[in-house]
Amino acid sequence: MGDGSGLLWIGRVLILLQLVIGILGWGKEGHYAVCKIAEGYLTEDALAAVKELLPDSAGGDLAAVCPWPDEIRFHYRWSSALHYIDTPDFKCNYQYCRDCHDSAGHKDRCVTGAIFNYTNQLTSAYQNSNSEFKYNLTEALMFLAHFIGDVHQPLHVGFTGDLGGNTITVRWYRRKTNLHHVWDDMIIDSALKTFYGSDLANMIRAIQNNMTVFFSFYVVYLIVNMKRTYTIEMFITF
Ligand SMILES: [Zn+2]
Repeated sequence: MGDGSGLLWIGRVLILLQLVIGILGWGKEGHYAVCKIAEGYLTEDALAAVKELLPDSAGGDLAAVCPWPDEIRFHYRWSSALHYIDTPDFKCNYQYCRDCHDSAGHKDRCVTGAIFNYTNQLTSAYQNSNSEFKYNLTEALMFLAHFIGDVHQPLHVGFTGDLGGNTITVRWYRRKTNLHHVWDDMIIDSALKTFYGSDLANMIRAIQNNMTVFFSFYVVYLIVNMKRTYTIEMFITF
């Protein structure tokens, strides 16, 4: 794994998770589904590397542990700030130096800082086998898979003034709730009940079928754009 193939599988996991999260949300079901779908696209090598790091409780299934960082965020209090990044109100741009900190002002404690950190831990472990002892790579993988999902939930990248939509009261059908919760859970819950008979496996299958069409368009899009703007070296690297 020290020959670059480790880096390759980590890159593939990240790309697949990023493609998948555009579709789903980010409560327990959302995180499970994001990882479940991404797992289906892993190569044999990538899947083996992932399974090697998973805890026994996962039963060899990455998706089973993707909601884990939400379950321990109050136990690992330092990890709470790693699930999101907020910008100053009505600043519709993101600046890492300005925005990536926790409420006490500690730098790098935000979701993009966490993604950077855990990606580095995993890649450095595969570049240098000694570093495996320095980091808990199992936790690094579980955090990374979860945070890639979180960062694509629009209200995990919101405004500080309304705490990412948490202080905006809304109604979802008859229930009074807040906007953040609607995005995290309620859209998915409603879709599950309305269209998939409350069966998450059904919903995942439907998305997987649509993904085939999505990937076809995506590949065509990449090829067209590469021909216009990219060099042949970049094409080969891809
Ligand atoms: Zn989270």
